[in-house]
Amino acid sequence: MTPAFSVCVYCGSRPGADPGFSETARQVGQWIGEHGGQLVYGGGRNGLMGVVADATLAAGGRVIGVIPKALVEKEWAHTGCTELHVVDTMHERKRIMAEYADAFLSLPGGIGTLEEFFEVWTWRQLGYHAKPVGLLNLNGYYDHLLAFLATSVSSGFMNDWQMDLIHVAVEPAALLEQLVQVAGMATEGLRLDQI
Ligand code: AMP
Repeated sequence: MTPAFSVCVYCGSRPGADPGFSETARQVGQWIGEHGGQLVYGGGRNGLMGVVADATLAAGGRVIGVIPKALVEKEWAHTGCTELHVVDTMHERKRIMAEYADAFLSLPGGIGTLEEFFEVWTWRQLGYHAKPVGLLNLNGYYDHLLAFLATSVSSGFMNDWQMDLIHVAVEPAALLEQLVQVAGMATEGLRLDQI
């Protein structure tokens, strides 16, 4: 069955110090599955990544994992994915993940998550895609990042319209609903091949 929507989730390959991170990752996966959606993610089984994937599968959703073969060889791949795409390079992986997605959502995570969030936000501002980009500021995890971004705006390196391109929220279900709704309205074609 064709999924109702496809959300690319970026999140920690570690669980984080607070069990609340895993609980929220589980809620995100459950929401996607219960709403007939598809999860696109990095294909790992560790940390919050594995929690989101397992919860999506448990709730009846499809899961597409896209992982570079170097990480598979380290035995980090989640073999329970509906589809597991093993690719040659990290760049190929990120392009494929972005193509499968209707929307992007970043949960708490480390440098990999931050890099992915900034990449799809940058692609959005350049017009390479028109898909919504969400940031879940769970329990203030991203407060300091958002404060820094405000500094970047006030210092003249960013504009308000760039900030307006991201959807920031604290509650996962409300943010997912917003992203799926906005994704349904996006009409511009994909230009990821030009990146
Ligand atoms: P981090 O936030 O540094 O833990 O990195 C997590 C993000 O980077 C995820 O969204 C993945 O796409 C990617 N990533 C990092 N480590 C792995 C791994 N072991 N397996 C799969 N993807 C990973």
